[in-house]
Amino acid sequence: MTDPLHIPCPHCNGLNRIPAARLGDAPKCGRCKAPVLLNAPFELQQGDYASQIKGDLPLLIDVWAEWCGPCKSFAPIFEQAARQLSGRCRLAKLDSETNQQLAGQLGIRSIPSLILFRNGREVARQSGALPLPQLLEWLRSQGV
Ligand SMILES: [Zn+2]
Repeated sequence: MTDPLHIPCPHCNGLNRIPAARLGDAPKCGRCKAPVLLNAPFELQQGDYASQIKGDLPLLIDVWAEWCGPCKSFAPIFEQAARQLSGRCRLAKLDSETNQQLAGQLGIRSIPSLILFRNGREVARQSGALPLPQLLEWLRSQGV
């Protein structure tokens, strides 16, 4: 038996305990009953940040803005990555315009910026968009 994984719900921030063997069974949140694992990026608001960076599944945040061309061309790549990494990594988008306080706290100097968190800590950061294979390779090199 392995220990259950702690995974925050992307909808209500509730922290779920999910046995690793059940990750593939579309686990539902114990609090709000919505699916805990998504196959698409979710929108992160700065009020959810502290809850969402917790947990045993890494969280990859794409910091973007509406006016940023490279951010827009990167969006479909990020969505594809979310489909491929479902159950291994959680992907979230942070709008740096509507979440300026958090973007400042994270020290964002250019966008898009990619920040990888695990168990509440930043473990890696990448400035600028990456093609899908390089993005997956970068994550693999971080143990995702
Ligand atoms: Zn929930």
